[in-house]
Amino acid sequence: MDLPLNNGNKKTLSRLGSSSRLSSHHQSLAGAPLPGKYKTFHQKKPERLEDVRYNGWLDAMKSSSPTCAYLTKDVGITSDDSYSFWMLKYPSAIKSFEQIMDLAHDRKMAVFLDYDGTLSPIVDDPDCAFMSEEMQLAVKNIAYYFPTAIISGRSCDKIYELVGLDELYYAGSHGMDIMGPVSSNLFNHHLKCVESTDQQFGEDVGLLQPAREFLPMIDEVFRTLVENTKDIKGIKVENHKFCASIHYRNVDEKDWPRVAQCVLAILEDYPHLKITHGRKVLEVRPVIDWNKGNAVEFLLDSLSGMDNCAGVVPIYVGDDRTDEDAFKVLQARGYGFGILVSSVPKETNASYSLRDTSEV
Ligand SMILES: [Mg+2]
Repeated sequence: MDLPLNNGNKKTLSRLGSSSRLSSHHQSLAGAPLPGKYKTFHQKKPERLEDVRYNGWLDAMKSSSPTCAYLTKDVGITSDDSYSFWMLKYPSAIKSFEQIMDLAHDRKMAVFLDYDGTLSPIVDDPDCAFMSEEMQLAVKNIAYYFPTAIISGRSCDKIYELVGLDELYYAGSHGMDIMGPVSSNLFNHHLKCVESTDQQFGEDVGLLQPAREFLPMIDEVFRTLVENTKDIKGIKVENHKFCASIHYRNVDEKDWPRVAQCVLAILEDYPHLKITHGRKVLEVRPVIDWNKGNAVEFLLDSLSGMDNCAGVVPIYVGDDRTDEDAFKVLQARGYGFGILVSSVPKETNASYSLRDTSEV
């Protein structure tokens, strides 16, 4: 499928064709690369409250909190008991460290790290989710020995600003914006990669942006969401370049239906977008077959193609639902170590656990 890019060039994006939902709207998207073109879509009123309830949105919003454990309803079982029981299936990565090293043997490892809730604690204001100096030093040391990437829902620029380490790879917007130094050779042989001089990095970087066509649409959706939610106290809408995030952590629960209404209305107006749930955050992103798992696959395959990285063993550490796509990739490959950061029992595709960011 040929879709126009922002810079006027054209590029074949086969992954876009993998979504039947997107294909049905191909004509309207293909002819609408400019932000203003989308403005005719979002004139309708938000969905009815009943639709929000019937669609299970409120249940999903409530269950996105880590305090909603699925085992603690059992009669007579305390949350500590539940967690201990859960850890029989997902043992502590700290206590299993020697076992993990034995399983990895002497193979080269690659380390993938989520940011929020993994390297930094979840805080009320996402702009204040800073990593400790101790954690930054630990990540820097890891990157000295192993290829290391930050895989986050935030934009690449924002995550680089928060982490501040040049030696890492960054996959922002849930993997839709992958950036790393050209000198790594990681990006050299991939058809979709381009070189760019990044203002923030101040040097040439390699970029893989499989959803580049959606940039103007996401920007417009961000501005629409800011406008439509401006009367909801405590809400925070962020533009992560390839996705827009709506944080409702500080919104009174009685107003959550209004949040859901505003976001659900976006789906009606922009059929090329979908919603995913994080920890007290809803995220609007393109309907393309690309997520954190794809980003891990791309980076792993690229690393494996490098002379000294054959058979690289991945370790992925993350804390929320979007990280499950990456855990699934490791599970499907049959090697590597998925580590879930959680203080409560959760269903997961990871193999090991850590209780909180202090254990990472
Ligand atoms: Mg996270």
